[in-house]
Amino acid sequence: MNPTAGCVLRAADFLRVSRKTRYPREVRVFLVALALALTTAAVATADRTSADPTRGPAARPLPHRSRSLGLPFRGHLRDGVLLRESAHVRYVTEYATAGNHYGTWELVQLLERAAYRVSRRLPGAKLSVGELSAERGGRLPGHASHQNGRDVDLGFYMLDARGRPYDAFAFAEFGPNGQGRGPNTSLRFDDARNWELVAKLVADGDARVQHLFVARHLKDRLLAEGRRRRAPASVLARAERVMAQPTGHAHANHFHLRIYCSPSNRPACKDQGVRHPWAP
Ligand SMILES: [Zn+2]
Repeated sequence: MNPTAGCVLRAADFLRVSRKTRYPREVRVFLVALALALTTAAVATADRTSADPTRGPAARPLPHRSRSLGLPFRGHLRDGVLLRESAHVRYVTEYATAGNHYGTWELVQLLERAAYRVSRRLPGAKLSVGELSAERGGRLPGHASHQNGRDVDLGFYMLDARGRPYDAFAFAEFGPNGQGRGPNTSLRFDDARNWELVAKLVADGDARVQHLFVARHLKDRLLAEGRRRRAPASVLARAERVMAQPTGHAHANHFHLRIYCSPSNRPACKDQGVRHPWAP
């Protein structure tokens, strides 16, 4: 309950009670003024509390007080939020048991919003999530970054030979024609769902994307799909700018997503590298 509601009621009670009593008018005016003053003080206190919920002895850290500390490749995570499996989200089986599905509140919310949107627009598939960070961040085997809750690996949406959504055990690699490589030649890159995912990630107004690593040939497919679906020019421009193939690892089998530090996490959280116009 809003703590100010109780105080507003108290002021009304004062008015009612003071009218019924036989106090002189001056005393009644004083009592009403006192009640209003108490109400104003309570409103001010409530404003401060909502602005900073950690104040006061009874306050406990809320999930959204997560803190990304340091750099993605030398950092930690405090009060990380667990991204849970749901109707729209699944863990890629290979990474399901290691338990590295913690991120900042901003990243976890972004993934849930994006997965939900894809499932609403193109029902039938879940977002396949690899690893985020460990519960307290720090070094994660197999990754150079992923240390402070702002990185995540996302498996591609994919289709089986009959065109049905397919939940793979591990990340699967795709070639320029959208066909699976290696042992996954019967799988196809799901252009429509993967584009929907990219479009939501890059256009999100809350969490802001710094990197979306993906192989050049898949980036080309995704942009072609975006144009085919008549995506807004601003979304296409952002997607074009943020998708990139890094040197060293082509990322033909998953997306690597990184978001900028939330302004409330600075200066302990540090961004390094490209600053897009939409950086917070
Ligand atoms: Zn990664």
